[in-house]
Amino acid sequence: MVQNDHERLHFSQSQHLELNNRLTAIRERIAKTAESAGRNPEDIRLIAVTKTASPVLAEHLLTLGIQDMAENRWQVAREKLVHPFAARVRWHFIGPLQSNKIKSIASAFSVVHALEDAEHAEQFEQILTSLGKHMEAFVQVNVSGEPQKHGVHPENLHLLLQKLQNYKFLRVVGLMTMAPLTRDYIEIRRTFRGLANLLGEERERLSWGNLQYLSMGMSNDYELAIAEGATHLRIGRQLVSLEDTPEGGESR
Ligand SMILES: *Cc1c(COP(=O)(O)O)cnc(C)c1O
Repeated sequence: MVQNDHERLHFSQSQHLELNNRLTAIRERIAKTAESAGRNPEDIRLIAVTKTASPVLAEHLLTLGIQDMAENRWQVAREKLVHPFAARVRWHFIGPLQSNKIKSIASAFSVVHALEDAEHAEQFEQILTSLGKHMEAFVQVNVSGEPQKHGVHPENLHLLLQKLQNYKFLRVVGLMTMAPLTRDYIEIRRTFRGLANLLGEERERLSWGNLQYLSMGMSNDYELAIAEGATHLRIGRQLVSLEDTPEGGESR
């Protein structure tokens, strides 16, 4: 990933102020949207997606009170995780999973959002058992059924959840989705509602209290996600793309 040397070495007072302003604006929008949806803003967790941000920016986010941060690639995450501040962050892995990275992810992260495969889940459970470490997981669902998208098909969700239900160290706490790439907010909202409905159905079918959270909503659509019950927002660009930060990485 391209990184701006100036930014890596130095974070100016004006950048800190801008970051603070953005964070305040996002928090206010979350609170407002939650209230107009009749929800308690405290039930909504803001996760800062730092995949395009420098370690110094991430460290400033921590000083501004952000405790949850997300990365989508192990190689990029590793550069941040070596910094001392990283030990005080609750790290979420939101990228697609590969077998050869699961051991590293299980050791370094607290939460995984894009579980979609029973074999990966089994690998996590085995590694976590040997580490004696608990980890939370979201199962990613391809609600809109687009062919190229990650996530389990809604028809296969129940079977997958049944397989994961008795794990001791990997604790499935909810479902995750990404909205289709469209400006059609009705379609986006339909996707979020679809995930919320699936969560409700599976909670009944499995009578499984652990399963309670919805990881959905990004920079462009988090208000729609809140209206449909999101509990975990994954926000990147709107928070971390400061004026002179290069637009690195792929955001979706
Ligand atoms: C990058 C990313 C986000 C954040 O997207 P923004 O549009 O930058 O807010 C959220 N979820 C996943 C899985 C991502 O890869």
